[in-house]
Amino acid sequence: MSAQSRITCSCGRQIEGREVLQQGYFMTAWRPVWVYVKYRCSRCRMLGERLVDYTQWTDDALSSEPAGPPAGLPIDLPSTGEIADAEIAAFADRLRSLRFADLDQLADSLA
Ligand SMILES: [Zn+2]
Repeated sequence: MSAQSRITCSCGRQIEGREVLQQGYFMTAWRPVWVYVKYRCSRCRMLGERLVDYTQWTDDALSSEPAGPPAGLPIDLPSTGEIADAEIAAFADRLRSLRFADLDQLADSLA
């Protein structure tokens, strides 16, 4: 990993993935040139922004991202096996029969 790609707050703390609020890419027509990262430092609570040269960017630039779901958020995925064609067809049928009212209801239930 390249040390230049690490993002450090002005207080000296190295920013981790979970402190990133927003991340994006500045593109030319062909490829990303800059990686934009907005973060809030968990030590000094300061908001910060950084532009990182895309050629310096690596996925481990944001340190200590724990593998798997974050602690405190246990995710139990049911082991239901592969999705059968019949299930896909049934799901497609349900999507086709959706009405706008259903979407409104769903939006309300998420609000
Ligand atoms: Zn800081």
